[in-house]
Amino acid sequence: MSISTWMKDLELETRPITAEVRAALDRRWAELPEHVKTANQLLGRCAVGCEGTHGVFPKCNLTCSPCYHAADANKVRIDGAHTVEQVTRQMEFLRKTRGPRAHAQLIGGEVSLLAPEDHAAALLAMRANGREPMSMTHGDFDYQYLLDVVLDADGNPRFQRVSFAAHFDSLMRGRRGAVRPHTEAELNPFREQFARMFVDLKREHGVRSYLAHNMTVTPSNVGQVGSVTRDVLDMPFDMLSFQPAAFIGDERRWKEDFDDVTIDAVWSRIEEGAGQKLPWQATQFGDPRCNRSTAGIRVDGVFVPILDPDEPKDLAVRDRILDRFGGVVFGGVSIPVLTMKVLRMLVRNPGVVPPLMGLAQRIIRRCGGLRDLVLAAVQRKVAVKTFVVHNFMDADDVQPAWELMEQGIDSADPEVRETQERLGACMYTMSHPDTGRLIPACVQHSVLDPGENAGLRKMLPLTVKGT
Ligand code: SF4
Repeated sequence: MSISTWMKDLELETRPITAEVRAALDRRWAELPEHVKTANQLLGRCAVGCEGTHGVFPKCNLTCSPCYHAADANKVRIDGAHTVEQVTRQMEFLRKTRGPRAHAQLIGGEVSLLAPEDHAAALLAMRANGREPMSMTHGDFDYQYLLDVVLDADGNPRFQRVSFAAHFDSLMRGRRGAVRPHTEAELNPFREQFARMFVDLKREHGVRSYLAHNMTVTPSNVGQVGSVTRDVLDMPFDMLSFQPAAFIGDERRWKEDFDDVTIDAVWSRIEEGAGQKLPWQATQFGDPRCNRSTAGIRVDGVFVPILDPDEPKDLAVRDRILDRFGGVVFGGVSIPVLTMKVLRMLVRNPGVVPPLMGLAQRIIRRCGGLRDLVLAAVQRKVAVKTFVVHNFMDADDVQPAWELMEQGIDSADPEVRETQERLGACMYTMSHPDTGRLIPACVQHSVLDPGENAGLRKMLPLTVKGT
């Protein structure tokens, strides 16, 4: 390689925002409905949103109420070759249409029913397409399975870092050791055990992890959201994510009136468990009726948000960062490349340094001052935590709203219109390379899954002829 080619490659690799990322973000912003183009909106400013797989391994070996999978999802054989082929195609399409970087969930039925080699191959296919994959699981698998996914045949790590989201709640049936839990607290040893596997993975093999704890919330367990929050906050999970139940998927598993649980009710229970207010208004992904989240630092039991929505100086920094640096890809790059990117960013925008320093000072002050922060860090009482609520919609609402959207009709009915607005601002997308479309996850589960699953049943029957 000539020096000039090497220089060109280096310049491109360390360029803070590439033309491709900029174009993907601009496209995303242009497609958003006007009502979510607010100052705190992150879609189209620094992210394109989350992505998920579909139709790749629908089967699950637990039973939950509710279950978002199609009623006959368990009649489809788990097939590694099909999974890897489909994941690859879906990710290639996402790479092409949404740019070089996004977070994507390896989701379907239960991911740990995949053979470890197939699970690893699917994650590698996602990474190869610039996706930061997260494996969605019920968490009921052994450490050996995790090792077999993460390590190759020679015992060397295939990944430097893995992300898993584990679903634990008392609405799930069939977990080994907790077949029919009556309370959320009964699941705490299983939550601990799951998270500990990743602590061991880091210690023994140097593989880092990002862990999310997911919980479905219905009227029967909403009263325990506070205690789950309190308990899980002390475990090595990075994210606590809650999903108010919706009427989607298998109707046989709709046992309660889920409508009683609102996003506000769940958030206030989380705050109750955290023992403090959790301000979330400084940033927004998509529509606030769908998503709510806040990220911050937990210092000796107290959560300090990165951005305080009541502090105008914080919001001014947010606006400046989104304006100047939205689109810088921090993930999936080496430390030297990241350092170069940051330096180039700062050299080009020196005026941003004082406000950034001011934000850092305010965060340290909120953490109790530098001395307390350092002391807590030494005592291992500092952790980055994110709280999330994702509020899926009922299939009965999504179906008519989507039907009209497909015809280009904005409904005059306020309720249908609200659903259309939310779907239009969706931040959780599924990829359909066959039709060249990107579909909101609510539509996938409410409208497309049953037909897709029927096709999969034929393609991947449980019993193969001749066996
Ligand atoms: S999947 Fe549904 S609830 Fe989630 S962001 Fe999209 S439209 Fe909103």
